[in-house]
Amino acid sequence: MRKLNSFGLNSTARWFCEAFNIEELSEAVAFAKDRSLDVFVLGSGTNLILGTHIDGLVIKNNLRGRTFSENQLKASSGENWEELVRSCDLKGFQGLENLGLIPGTVGAAPIQNIGAYGVELSDRLKSVEALNLFTSETVTFSNTDCEFSYRDSKFKKEKEWCVTSITISSGNELVWEYPDVRIYLEKHNLEMSSGTIYRAVCVARKRKLPDLRRFPNVGSFFKNPVVTAEKYKILESQFPNIPGYVYRHGIKLSAAWLIDSLDLKGQSIGGVSISRQHALVIINHSAGTFDDLKKLSKLIKTRVHSAYDVSLEIEPEVLPEQPI
Ligand code: NAP
Repeated sequence: MRKLNSFGLNSTARWFCEAFNIEELSEAVAFAKDRSLDVFVLGSGTNLILGTHIDGLVIKNNLRGRTFSENQLKASSGENWEELVRSCDLKGFQGLENLGLIPGTVGAAPIQNIGAYGVELSDRLKSVEALNLFTSETVTFSNTDCEFSYRDSKFKKEKEWCVTSITISSGNELVWEYPDVRIYLEKHNLEMSSGTIYRAVCVARKRKLPDLRRFPNVGSFFKNPVVTAEKYKILESQFPNIPGYVYRHGIKLSAAWLIDSLDLKGQSIGGVSISRQHALVIINHSAGTFDDLKKLSKLIKTRVHSAYDVSLEIEPEVLPEQPI
């Protein structure tokens, strides 16, 4: 499985297949059912930490297809997310520009409720179609049914669903408040549009984030913790520079800021280290192992907790599921 995960950990699976359409997907699910195997659906493995062995059937999702109509866009879950965003840019379909250059597949996007530069997929998504891996029924979920929250959804909690397609409505507003976007538009004297925001986002991400192909990683390793307003007040009185942003019913902290403030950039254990470029990114720089990663993750969590009394949660999925 090493080549199928962007962190590049060595891992094996008992069974493996690829599904290019819904029929093949259903056939693979039936195969697993007959043999009482656990099923794991794999996208492009860019937000995934693999344990040493997966005792079950891994199905690589290769479902393809995207259709644009006047008021919506429908895309199959095995499509590459960035290719979808780029085709929206070419067709002038507005709404996904802030989510440009996020690695991964379309199917992973609602599971993770991907978000960047002030937009979450849940702000744009109309519905999700998913196959139930236990009952083989296909269900269409409305936006509300998906139970979205910060980098979380119904599909992340309930493992029996394989997302097969998503539908996005047209007529989305533009969002440009994040400094990286606003400053780029001002500096280059560009009018605000879906296309210019997309360009600003791509430039910022290329500048700030280590290239996956050269520095194996899974993007942000920790979620930004959301604390109560009372807790934030206490933190602010002790650390006046601590950034905080109103998020739903609480205040969202910057996990990158917390880690960076403890001078942890560059810290390594075995073959893995915290990127010097971005404190939220952990890099597998020389044949790192699952255990190295576990130790580094623990070290970061412990240091942040003892300094700020804040618990960090990891963002990528771990397969097979286990605490890191
Ligand atoms: P940044 O702009 O340096 O900001 C640091 C953190 O503060 C971000 O995580 C962001 O939260 C929050 N923030 C900044 N300005 C904000 C505002 N005006 N309103 C609300 N929250 C604000 O962050 P960055 O690391 O360069 O990342 C830029 C964007 O790309 C962020 O949205 C980040 O989530 C996204 N990103 C995601 C991944 C991933 O793997 N999931 C990896 C890299 C970057 P949010 O994260 O909630 O936006």
